[in-house]
Amino acid sequence: MTALVIVGHGTRSAAGVDQFAALVDRVRRRAGGSVGDVEGGFIELSRPPLTDAVTTLVERGHRSLVALPLVLTAAGHGKGDIPAAMAREQARHPGLTYRYGRPLGPHPLLHTALQERIDAALAGADRAGTWVALIGRGSTDPDANAEVAKVARLLWEGRGYAGVEPGFVSLAEPSVPAVLARLRRLGARRIVVAPYFLFAGVLPDRIVNQSQEFAAEHPDLDVRVAGLIGDCDALADLVLERHTEALRGDIRMNCDTCAYRVLMPGFADKVGRPQTPHDHPDDPVGGHHHHHLHGGHHHHHHDGGHHGPGLRPGQVAVVGGGPGPDDLITVRGKAMLDSADVVVADRLAPQGLLAGLRPDVLVIDAAKVPRGPSMAQDAINDALVDHARAGKRVVRLKGGDPYVFGRGHEEVQACAAAGVETVLVPGVSSALAAPALAGVPVTHRGVAHDLTVVSGHLPPGHPQSLVDWVALGRARGTLVLLMAVDTIAKIAAVLVEHGRAPDTPVLVVQDAGHPGQRTWASRLDEVGDLAAREGVRPPAVVVLGPVVALRG
Ligand code: SAH
Repeated sequence: MTALVIVGHGTRSAAGVDQFAALVDRVRRRAGGSVGDVEGGFIELSRPPLTDAVTTLVERGHRSLVALPLVLTAAGHGKGDIPAAMAREQARHPGLTYRYGRPLGPHPLLHTALQERIDAALAGADRAGTWVALIGRGSTDPDANAEVAKVARLLWEGRGYAGVEPGFVSLAEPSVPAVLARLRRLGARRIVVAPYFLFAGVLPDRIVNQSQEFAAEHPDLDVRVAGLIGDCDALADLVLERHTEALRGDIRMNCDTCAYRVLMPGFADKVGRPQTPHDHPDDPVGGHHHHHLHGGHHHHHHDGGHHGPGLRPGQVAVVGGGPGPDDLITVRGKAMLDSADVVVADRLAPQGLLAGLRPDVLVIDAAKVPRGPSMAQDAINDALVDHARAGKRVVRLKGGDPYVFGRGHEEVQACAAAGVETVLVPGVSSALAAPALAGVPVTHRGVAHDLTVVSGHLPPGHPQSLVDWVALGRARGTLVLLMAVDTIAKIAAVLVEHGRAPDTPVLVVQDAGHPGQRTWASRLDEVGDLAAREGVRPPAVVVLGPVVALRG
């Protein structure tokens, strides 16, 4: 069951804090059990801090949250500060994932609430003779200011006011006095100043003061200030709607007018710049933060709804897919896959997952990547880098765990060298899963206190071998061999030669986890013959040691 954490910025106004708390309560009541748990917290200035709200939810057993920024428009708080605060919570609570909700506005529920506040201020005076100054917070982000202008237009449409003009109390023009002066020049006699604000705070107070000053200087005008949106049912219902939407995962952010991505007059300094703070909710714990060379590092969530663990354009995720069945991939790995535009898959990667991809996803079979002789890895690395540079979200899907004889780190290094950002998602390795799926515990109290995983790719005595076979012959614990189908006879002979008991129980597990999984039980001095006689084929894992006898 997911939980909802409502995240506020914080305010110096005690009334604002109370309104926030009342709204969180109202959301809880109106959710009526349809949301598991609801908590609220602030990222600065006010109590409770976000970290307390998240800790409360984690202590109640939640590992997966919806984090909803309680902001009307997407500006610095929604795009940067709150995601950064959530990233700190993720670092504090390993394994915590969250989906990030959309900003609240524009939304008809808000427009109706604004209309009610304006009409309350009118107290029966006619709308047709009334101009509205809709005052937003104002931002250095033109996209956020444009949202306020859009709300002004939507508020005008069909409601019969003489006109609605946007203005801003800070950072953007026109200011409150400037928009009031403009309306006066347009012939306004009655003006309602409508703050586009949720709760009480320093800025809404400033709107009231500036409006009163202007009114005092212009006695010919009837200037009234409408109430704030405040804690109300409409706002609570909108929060719940944004929560549902985040759960469905169909959130899209507008990036077409993002100053960090598009060159806009007067904002050239922003394009391609990291938005500070330079954290991102999509950075999974352990992600690699390489310098982003292409198009800048950009703070939005642009994808089709994969907030939390999904990929951003130009990133490569090296994902461990598990030993083969579709459902032994991690939740994080699956989320990466769901956000992918391009998937470069190994032969041993779970093939069923490929079948489930959207039809528009480009699937590249790594075994078939065009290459010269012995160029396989270079060709794969090039494919990853090329697609990432073309702005694609790329998943390199591998069998098992990427770092267990999977060359995963070669790919991470190649991407890093090309300036492509990577994310590593560990997987369930066949080294552990194949014995387990065949009923062998790789360790057991009182039976085996060590576990060694060895590649059998190079046989004992091979000049390039890095394995100390003599030491492995002396060892008593569990030995797991990968890629050893062709070399098992030689390996077994060397182990016996150096001290392993000839009757050490051995299990060969072929196609672990697949419908055709096969197992053969043997002993160390017989397994070589058995493998040849039975025609064991890769992929197969050989596990040996006293734990094998525990198999039921
Ligand atoms: N990164 C992979 C291992 C790659 S090496 C992992 O962590 O699982 C390839 C070897 O893995 C194969 O030769 C075989 O020994 C083993 N292997 C992979 N999948 C397997 C499966 N489903 N059943 C048995 N062995 C498997």
